[in-house]
Amino acid sequence: MRDEIDQAQALLERADTIVVIGHERPDGDAVGSLNAVAIGLENTGKQVTSVLADGVPRRFLFLPGAERVQQTIPTECDLLIAVDCSAIERTGYDLESLPRGIDLNFDHHPTNNHFGAINFVEPHAVATAEVLFDLSAPLGLQIDTDIATNLLTGLVTDTIGFRTSNVTPKVLRMAAQLIELGAPLAEVYERSLNQRSFVAARYWGCGLSRLERDDGLLWASLTLEDRKSVGYPGRDDADLINLLSTIESAEVTLIFVEQSEGKVKVSWRSRNGLNVARLANAFGGGGHEQAAGAMVAGELDEVRARVLSATRKILGSNQDRGVK
Ligand code: 5GP
Ligand code: MN
Repeated sequence: MRDEIDQAQALLERADTIVVIGHERPDGDAVGSLNAVAIGLENTGKQVTSVLADGVPRRFLFLPGAERVQQTIPTECDLLIAVDCSAIERTGYDLESLPRGIDLNFDHHPTNNHFGAINFVEPHAVATAEVLFDLSAPLGLQIDTDIATNLLTGLVTDTIGFRTSNVTPKVLRMAAQLIELGAPLAEVYERSLNQRSFVAARYWGCGLSRLERDDGLLWASLTLEDRKSVGYPGRDDADLINLLSTIESAEVTLIFVEQSEGKVKVSWRSRNGLNVARLANAFGGGGHEQAAGAMVAGELDEVRARVLSATRKILGSNQDRGVK
């Protein structure tokens, strides 16, 4: 670790122009971590460009640094940093269309394939924001109020308001320190987790009207037609999966979101230690043991049948239950 920190410091020192990139369909940890790194490096005199292929979702526009995020990546830079991406493709770009290889890879996904020249991947961290918080001092980055607000947003959103089973006293202490540095917890919580737009609520209604369950599985589907009919601007599930996973009785909750070009975005949430990351990986995606996702090629009906069948198979399997 010490070696990596020294190497990263040397790379940062030498670089003038730096590009920071997060993952497509960004969540609060992707946006927060991106802004935190961008602001931190800018404060040390670097020229920094923040990139999100899909831009900043409306609910995260309040975050300091969000206003300067751009959707196209510069063709040149001295250093390229990825945050919260488990694989290069998660940036929304393939290697050929990036200005250079990824130099620094900050992440917390157990499925991360260490695609960076230097990798700071901590699978036990609740969020990439936690990884960055821990590395800020060793890397010589000062956490000001704007950075604290972004990091707290990463912690709050990836733990769904400190409710996931991986939250430790250390995480709560970190949150307390960020609040001491000026991060507004109530505002972060309200804007990034609680508030819904009217159209998102109607979009949820479409999914909820198709709620189904059997054999310990519970799932809903959202179609392109749903998005058109209610005017929902994103191509995600508007976080409906988090609502579905509060419904009792299901071991695994899934959502299927139809995409253009014959693809379906699948999300899994599990209980009782069932590992859905492995399953998501088998479908070309990744994530965490209890929250994973994949973009699967095929028509909605066909993908749903295939994914449900594969998910049913792991329900009875100890191999996917954290039993070695
Ligand atoms: P969600 O299902 O809410 O999009 O994401 C749940 C978790 O799975 C997140 O940690 C996210 O980064 C990961 N994930 C979601 N979709 C993909 C995907 O297409 N590829 C990979 N590698 N990970 C994904
Ligand atoms: Mn994350």
